[in-house]
Amino acid sequence: MEYVWIDNIIDGLIDIYGTNNIYDLYDYLDISIKKLPMSNVLLHGNEAFYNRNFFDTEVVFIRENLTVEYEQFILAHELGHAILHTNMITSAFNINLLNLDKMERQANYFALKLVNLNIDEIIFEGFTIEQIAKSFNLPVKCLKLLLG
Ligand SMILES: [Zn+2]
Repeated sequence: MEYVWIDNIIDGLIDIYGTNNIYDLYDYLDISIKKLPMSNVLLHGNEAFYNRNFFDTEVVFIRENLTVEYEQFILAHELGHAILHTNMITSAFNINLLNLDKMERQANYFALKLVNLNIDEIIFEGFTIEQIAKSFNLPVKCLKLLLG
């Protein structure tokens, strides 16, 4: 699966801002990141919640204590919605409930390209998906999603 238009948007972003660092991109694009305890009502039990206009602020609420790699993946996924799906006002990220509709697939594609996760099939030959997930510090479900 390939979305050339998304590749072009990512190339453009990196060109304009000179980085693919997700935290720098959030800064440049003026999107706030607010880490919250899992129990916080704003998360509604999700891992993250994006709101394009939360009291005039564009913000991603995200659970604290995720691995850095998983946090970056989720932030990149939500940035995908922010940039690709401008009609989307809010979006929740919940790995257990993630539907695979077109927009979710596009956001995952965007995230995968942006974080540039390179799962080398030769290096990981003979590894189980659990072992590969562990080596990337990602939940197994997330890796399965990324591998399609
Ligand atoms: Zn999403």
